[in-house]
Order: sequence, then C-alpha cells, then structure tokens
Amino acid sequence: MKFGKNSGYKKCPRCGNKCLQAQSECEECGLIFSRMEYASNKAAKRKLRHFDTDFVIYTNQYPKDVSYIKLLLLTIFLGITGAHYYYVGKYVKGGLMTACFVYLVFCTIFNAQMVEYLETYYLYLPIGIAAFAWIASLIYVITKKFKVPVTIDMSMATANVVDVEYARKEFDKVTEELKNENLKNKNKKKKNDVVEDVKKSEDGDKK
Ligand SMILES: [Zn+2]
Repeated sequence: MKFGKNSGYKKCPRCGNKCLQAQSECEECGLIFSRMEYASNKAAKRKLRHFDTDFVIYTNQYPKDVSYIKLLLLTIFLGITGAHYYYVGKYVKGGLMTACFVYLVFCTIFNAQMVEYLETYYLYLPIGIAAFAWIASLIYVITKKFKVPVTIDMSMATANVVDVEYARKEFDKVTEELKNENLKNKNKKKKNDVVEDVKKSEDGDKK
C-alpha cells in the first residue's frame, strides 16, 4: 500500500491506520492530525523525565526538533551504548542498553578471568541483547521506522493564538472608540438638553 499526497491516503502517525487524505482526525486512535504541527520531542522528553506518559505518542513522523542525521549518526557510531535512545527520550531502553554495554566492556576487560564462567551460555545473553537491539535500531532508523516520542508543545500550539490576541486588542480599541463617541454624543445631548432647559426656563420667565 502506497501512501502519499497523490494516493488519496495517509497513514496515521500514531497508530498507522490508513486514513483518507481529507480526514482531519484518525477514527482509530482519535489523533487530530493538525496537532502534529506542534509536536515536539523536547517537550515529550521533559515529560518522560518526570515519568509522565500522558499525551506522549510514538511516531516515525519526526518533529522539527529531531534531527534525522544526528539520530542516524548516533545509532551508527554510539548505538551500542544506547545513545540514540537517550537522544529521542527512550530512557528505559537506553538505560538497559547502557547496562548491557557496561557488561560487555566488563567482559572484555576481565576476559581471561571470565572465560570459564562465560562458557555458561546465558552469561552472553546481555551482549546478545545489546547487539540485537543495536542492529534492529539501525535497520529501523535507516528505513525510517524508528519511532520517537512526541507530545504537543503547548507553548508552540498557543503561538498562533497571537492572532486571536491581536483581534481582541483591535476589538478593544474599536469598542473604546465607540464608547468615547457615545460619551461625546451623550455629553452633546446633555449640553443640548441643558441649553433647551435654559431656553425653556427663559421662555417660562417671559411668560
Ligand atoms: Zn491513529
């Protein structure tokens, strides 16, 4: 299945559901597509550091604050340490990978002493996991299937409310002008009334 601007279909960045190009919301997971414009990895990382997973979604539609080149280079050169996981905010996976990497270094340094223990195959397991995760990550990153956590950055999302703010200011200005005009009219009326009253009283005096 091809997705693209000409196919008439698009893929939901959160759940991968096939949606019509014209759809504004995914019927499968409820994601409102226009919100993705304000998706931020930085904001998601901040949330994840506080163990807050609310409104954090995982997508391979990279937000503006994730550099694909950086992610690719980190995965290639430092992937075995889990650096690419830290870069996008997958701290648990990163931590596991770092632990495996430390274990690998440990095994390398104390190779001679450990050889007899390492004959028990399960001691190789962490190294296998790290190697597997590294290769899997590489394939995912290269094929652009590596998902990154993002969340809607409220400061970015409210940035276009400036227009509303501007409109409100304009509105206030106009109402202020109207008020002044009304006040002037009222004053004029009052003056006229006073003048009329005086005239009336003068007329009355004459009579
Ligand atoms: Zn969806």
